[in-house]
Amino acid sequence: MLVEYLGFSLKEPDALGYYALQWAALNNRTDTAQYIIEHGGDVNAKDQSGQTALHWSAVRGSIQVAEVLLQGGAWVDAADVNGYRITHVATQYGQTAFLYYVVSKWNANPDVPDNEGRSPLHWAAYKGFMDCIRLLLYLDANRGCQDREGCTPLHWAAIKGNLEACTLLLQGSQEGLAVTDNSGLTPAQLASEKKHRKIAFLLGNTRRLHEYRSNGNSLLGKLPKLGLAPVLCCAIVVHLTTYIHSVIMASNLPKLTAGFGILAWLGVFLSSAGLIWFYRCSSKDPGYIKMNVSDHQNLKEDEPLLKIEANHPALLAGNWSQLCTTCKIIKPLRAKHCSTCDRCVEQFDHHCPWVSNCVGKKNKWDFFLFIVLEVMAMVITSGVAMTRILMDPMAPVGFSPMFSHASTHHIGALTFLIMDIFYFFGASALVVSQAT
Ligand SMILES: [Zn+2]
Repeated sequence: MLVEYLGFSLKEPDALGYYALQWAALNNRTDTAQYIIEHGGDVNAKDQSGQTALHWSAVRGSIQVAEVLLQGGAWVDAADVNGYRITHVATQYGQTAFLYYVVSKWNANPDVPDNEGRSPLHWAAYKGFMDCIRLLLYLDANRGCQDREGCTPLHWAAIKGNLEACTLLLQGSQEGLAVTDNSGLTPAQLASEKKHRKIAFLLGNTRRLHEYRSNGNSLLGKLPKLGLAPVLCCAIVVHLTTYIHSVIMASNLPKLTAGFGILAWLGVFLSSAGLIWFYRCSSKDPGYIKMNVSDHQNLKEDEPLLKIEANHPALLAGNWSQLCTTCKIIKPLRAKHCSTCDRCVEQFDHHCPWVSNCVGKKNKWDFFLFIVLEVMAMVITSGVAMTRILMDPMAPVGFSPMFSHASTHHIGALTFLIMDIFYFFGASALVVSQAT
């Protein structure tokens, strides 16, 4: 070693003012760092810009070296001349794993402003590091934080033209859309000034919708949650009534034979049974995952941010998308946050507007049974309707005379048949997509 033979100092900086420990940290040399600390190197030595070895370990995301430094007494919230803490540096370089490590294990502050008033979330939004944004939002970093120019993280994402970052920053909270910077501009106005038309459009639209809903226009606000379930339910009932009235009991058609009658009523039975599962699917909890925010909201102002579990396997593996920034949970695999229900749903399949509910772990079988029963009913009822029309003894021979006869004498049955085929294709498409 140069140190032992030539007497190089571990305590003094090099010609540019940098310390040996900083270089070791930047290159993730754990043994070297250990050696330097054991031989009198100062863990908290600062270069001319006020950065310590720990700052340099954040640049490369060198977790092992950071561990050695912190164990050796490095100050976790050391700030350089710009006011950057390690949490700033980690987000400037997109080192999400490092950020997670220092916050969860060493309680580094993830929401501290630098000298310009910019928090790590500002930097993550500006640089467009999605995983950092996700982690910081999960940690409850303040998205409304304004820097010295009055800009929020959303302003920065809009200036940079990062659509994904804007969307993520707006998830669960649209308050930031109306915030103006020191020159009086909202994020949407900044985006259009920078010619990011898509973003300006998205932000403008989201804001209008948000304001419309919060101005007491509750119907539009409730509409997505109310969904189309009542419409679908009525449609099925009307459809069935038409069937009973114009096909089974039609006065101008001969009476049903016993066997055919059973088949005809079986269609009604299956469709009505389907409605029971429709109701179950629509009213059940689809598998909502308990949110982690209720007890958090009772915390006092000065209490620390949401605690994050250190060494969570999903996060160690870098699966940052499993963090739900709204529910503040680490989602299990196959779970997804539904933006309509605003909850995370286990084994999320899709949000079905027709049943006004998510289809997930707890109601996917109800959904499947509902559709299968309705499809079976449709096959039977359309078969019955077609046979009834064709078997009419008054019907003339040939397709088009028969069609015109049916359209004058059996208009109800014909309408039913056409609607039935129409519904059938819609529902079978769903069965296929569900079964695969
Ligand atoms: Zn969620």
